[in-house]
Amino acid sequence: MQQRQELELDELYRELILDHYKNPRHHHPLAHAAVVAEGYNPVCGDEIEMQLNFDGEKLTEIGIIGRGCSISRASGSMMSELVEGRNIDEIRHLTQEFQHMLTAPEAEVPADLGDLEALQGVGKFAVRVKCATLAWHTLADGIAQHEKGDGIVRREEA
Ligand code: ZN
Repeated sequence: MQQRQELELDELYRELILDHYKNPRHHHPLAHAAVVAEGYNPVCGDEIEMQLNFDGEKLTEIGIIGRGCSISRASGSMMSELVEGRNIDEIRHLTQEFQHMLTAPEAEVPADLGDLEALQGVGKFAVRVKCATLAWHTLADGIAQHEKGDGIVRREEA
């Protein structure tokens, strides 16, 4: 019975990931973007361009375009829903929670991570972790650019 429940849970997660992959949220360029951050994960070939607008400490708009595997796209889509309209401090806190979740696949997932809970199992597959964290690293780069007052940044995961 225990085994069966776990399987059903995984199925639910798989559907959630697939939904975000097929219908990614905020998957459009912005009319005007103050900051553009690009991220590339050569291990998998995931490529994203993230467009961002800020009002001081607040991320007011996010648009993510690019292509990649289901994990990278779902992670970016889920993240975009969570971070738009939040302050930078809150985004950094969520980023830490998300990264911790991936390193602790058995730990309880903080409720404020929302749909991202579905990606917890990715932490068990080292090569896929970069797919899941690419959008987050790219957003962190974008925030750093905003704080420096620069516009464009490009990252390539090592
Ligand atoms: Zn990937």
